[in-house]
Amino acid sequence: MLQQTQVATVIPYFERFIRSFPNVESLANATIDDVLHHWSGLGYYARARNLHRAAQQVRDEYAGVFPLEFDQVLALPGIGCSTAGAILSLGAGQRHAILDGNVKRVLARCFAITGWSGQAKVQKQLWQLAERYTPNERVADYNQGMMDLGSLVCTRTKPQCTECPLKKICQAHAQGKERDYPAPKPRKTVPVRTTCLLILVNRAGEIMLEQRPPSGIWGGLWSLPECPAEDQAEQWCREKLGLSGQLKSSWPVRRHTFSHFHLDITPLEIQVAQIDLVMEAGRRLWYNPAHPDACGLAAPVARLIKEIQDKS
Ligand code: SF4
Repeated sequence: MLQQTQVATVIPYFERFIRSFPNVESLANATIDDVLHHWSGLGYYARARNLHRAAQQVRDEYAGVFPLEFDQVLALPGIGCSTAGAILSLGAGQRHAILDGNVKRVLARCFAITGWSGQAKVQKQLWQLAERYTPNERVADYNQGMMDLGSLVCTRTKPQCTECPLKKICQAHAQGKERDYPAPKPRKTVPVRTTCLLILVNRAGEIMLEQRPPSGIWGGLWSLPECPAEDQAEQWCREKLGLSGQLKSSWPVRRHTFSHFHLDITPLEIQVAQIDLVMEAGRRLWYNPAHPDACGLAAPVARLIKEIQDKS
């Protein structure tokens, strides 16, 4: 959960998650729908899918006991070298270096490493430094200390060098150029895509949801049906869903930003008379916002459902 997300945001999600899935077995045996439901709103849903698959792998391949060999941990879905190192150093006291975003920043500044840390050459330099300075004793304390130093003292925009235990050896500080390291990721223009999300409301006030395919954006989550353009909405409903509906209103466009593109969403509110639905292998359902089913919703969809509830 902490990959790409701050501790304060994660805490309530973590507590709820651990209450529902207190051990590997309960997580492995849960449905992916239930896991995604607990993840709704945290974003980066591939993490939830990977965690679920990793729990199943631990259940099936290691009899439910988390492996303690580096290569076995690294082979679990969603775990890279730094996460494997963090798990085994903090959880089992083994000597492994870590290189998360915070540690990268501290090392890049301390040793004045030039270039963007995503470049292979720079990554290699940083890993070499991380390996070289990881101690043989109290590795967990050292790794936790480095992560805390990066998140609390050597912050991205306001490094507090006077408070920092590395200030006497830090090359970026000596140069007075702390913020020049690490070099930012080269900017790319982020493409903009557009879509219409259909808020199909039946006479009972229920909203139609459909489950997204397992991969791609909002993979496995429940979402509103997507149609390419406003003027095709009613026809699309007839042809794809077997529903005759009437377009009631088109809501203002809202932008949702993913890591690699912006999505401009036009929500279209459509009233439908009938309740029957062309079911597609259980991938569609009528959702009652007053008595919500336990299904994982994409964050913009949850917001739209809340808006329609507030309107009614
Ligand atoms: S001295 Fe400043 S720039 Fe250097 S590691 Fe410490 S906080 Fe970061």
